[in-house]
Amino acid sequence: MNDETTITCGETAIVGLGLIGGSLALALRRGGQRGRIVGVSSSETLTVALDQGMIDEGYPYDRLGEVAARVDLLVLATPIHRIREQLRELGESQAGLRPGTVVTDVGSTKRVILAEACQCLPPGVHFVGGHPMAGSERRGLAAADPFLFQNAIYALTPAPGVPETVIASLGRLLGETGARVVVLSAQEHDRIAAAISHVPQLLAVALVNFLEDLGPGRDRAIQLAAGGFRDMTRIASSPFDIWRDILATNADEVRRAVESFSRHLGDTVAGAGRDSLGGLFDRAATTRAAIPKDTKGFLRPLWELLVVVEDRPGMIAQISTTLAAEEINIKDIEVLKIREDEGGTMRLAFSSREDAERARTLLAARGLAVRLRT
Ligand code: NAP
Repeated sequence: MNDETTITCGETAIVGLGLIGGSLALALRRGGQRGRIVGVSSSETLTVALDQGMIDEGYPYDRLGEVAARVDLLVLATPIHRIREQLRELGESQAGLRPGTVVTDVGSTKRVILAEACQCLPPGVHFVGGHPMAGSERRGLAAADPFLFQNAIYALTPAPGVPETVIASLGRLLGETGARVVVLSAQEHDRIAAAISHVPQLLAVALVNFLEDLGPGRDRAIQLAAGGFRDMTRIASSPFDIWRDILATNADEVRRAVESFSRHLGDTVAGAGRDSLGGLFDRAATTRAAIPKDTKGFLRPLWELLVVVEDRPGMIAQISTTLAAEEINIKDIEVLKIREDEGGTMRLAFSSREDAERARTLLAARGLAVRLRT
């Protein structure tokens, strides 16, 4: 068999059937994987995954070595510290991995995992790090979604020496999930991730906590913070357990990015009151306009509609029942502006562009003024 048929027709094992691992199992089933899918997870998770037909066979974590020795593609989809431990376990496993086996992971940082893989995996095993840039506020197998990777960037960070044909065939298989595969070095991945994901996460947390400095004015500030402040700090609600591992394994790049950002913040603040600051605003607007709107990136986007509503009872119910009747899920809802006795503007957020477009059509058909927010 060549690399292509080995990966698409052979056996795949997914270790850690949570949000990402479970979604990958479902997406591979719908997409290009024609071989058997084996799960390695806790017994509770395996029972559900087998019942729902997500996997063909399931094994507990203590049989990882044995499973790895027989499959063609092994996907490590546990938290980053567990991926590192599992790579070490694989290196020490009596069963051993066969030459030609492809091992990948889904961890959100790449250099530390790559170094571990290069140190632990036997020669002839191909390690290609991976990071699907898609997520959800939910965790575990119950949150698994076959469409999670649609239009998401899927970064691949191969170990040195992995043949191009292996990288290409893994890329094609993952592309069948709807993801857009991008190959880059682990170093470049972590540097970019620090700038566009890890530093923004820290800024969002700091920005929210900084309201405490207002003392007694904090509660009033929170009341007034709907709109821009709330939008900018949405990710401040992310659970820390995911971030503990991410920040621990990319601390140097995060520090470098924070220092660089601090210089920009200083320059921007120093420009206040001067017309020259306009140049920085213009540059930021031009760069922001170039960010793709139709791909999921490091930060999970929400697609937003602005709806102008009259000030009369039942308007919110009318909107929500119209959308619920078509099984469109509103992820977030917020009143942006209220004009006394006149009405206001509401922001509705959806997890996909398709949902937002369908919602726009349905609400417009009910006579509401509605537009997609860009
Ligand atoms: P998740 O929903 O919590 O799934 C991880 C699964 O790993 C759990 O369901 C659990 O399954 C298993 N696991 C094994 N050891 C564990 C431990 N010590 N603590 C917690 N779970 C353990 O998490 P996820 O969001 O899928 O994240 C998995 C990996 O994907 C991480 O490396 C993360 O960096 C990466 N990632 C996450 C996102 C995101 O937005 N969530 C995006 C891209 C990449 P059992 O209970 O069956 O053992």
